Amino acid sequence: MFNLILFGPPGSGKGTQSENIVKTYQLEHISTGDLLRDEVSRHTPLGVEAKKYMDQGLLVPDEVVIGMISSKIDERPEARGFIFDGFPRTKAQAEALDKLLEFKNTQIHLVLSLEVPAEELMKRLINRGTTSGRSDDNEEVIGKRVKEYQTKTEPVATYYNHHGKLERVKGDNTIEDTFKILSKHIDKYLLPA
Ligand code: ADP
Repeated sequence: MFNLILFGPPGSGKGTQSENIVKTYQLEHISTGDLLRDEVSRHTPLGVEAKKYMDQGLLVPDEVVIGMISSKIDERPEARGFIFDGFPRTKAQAEALDKLLEFKNTQIHLVLSLEVPAEELMKRLINRGTTSGRSDDNEEVIGKRVKEYQTKTEPVATYYNHHGKLERVKGDNTIEDTFKILSKHIDKYLLPA
C-alpha cells in the first residue's frame, strides 16, 4: 500500500492534481472538503454542525474530521493506496492519521506540498468564486481560510519535514508541468497502474 498526502493552501490546485494522480496511479481519493460538502448537502447531523464552521472559513473540529476519515479508510480495505487531499489540516489530525495507519500496518510514505505565492492564490480563489457556487469562496471568507491555513495547517508541513517525508513542489506552473513534477516524486514509490 502507498499513501500520499497532497498538501497546500486553499487554491493551490490540490483538487485538480488529485484527479490526475488518482487516474494515473489508481489511488483512492479522500478529500475532507468534498466529504464535508456532501454531508452538508444531505443535511446530516454532521453536515449541519460542519456548515457552521465552513461558512465562516474556520476549520471543522478535529474529532469530526478524524472520525470521517477513519470510516472512509475502513470502507476500502483492498485499496492500492490513498491520496489524502485537504487532510491532515492540523498537527492533531496528522498524529491521529499516523496512529490510524499504524493500526492498519501501513504509513504515510510521501507528502507533496504545492507552493503558490499568496497573490496568485487570492486571484484563483476569487475567480473560482464566480463559478463554483461555494458559499466560502468570497473575499471575506477566503481571507479567514488563508489565516486558518497559516496558523493551524502550516505546522503540519513542519511535522512531516521532521519525519523526512515532505517534498515541496512549485505549484504555479501549468497544470501539466506541475503534474509531471509530482509524478516524478511518486514514481520513486509506485509506478502508474
Ligand atoms: P480549500 O479549497 O479551502 O482547500 P476544502 O474544500 O479542502 O477547501 O475545505 C473547505 C472547508 O471545509 C474548510 O475551509 C474547512 O472549513 C472544512 N475542512 C475541510 N477539510 C478539513 C479538515 N481536514 N479539518 C478541518 N476542517 C476541514
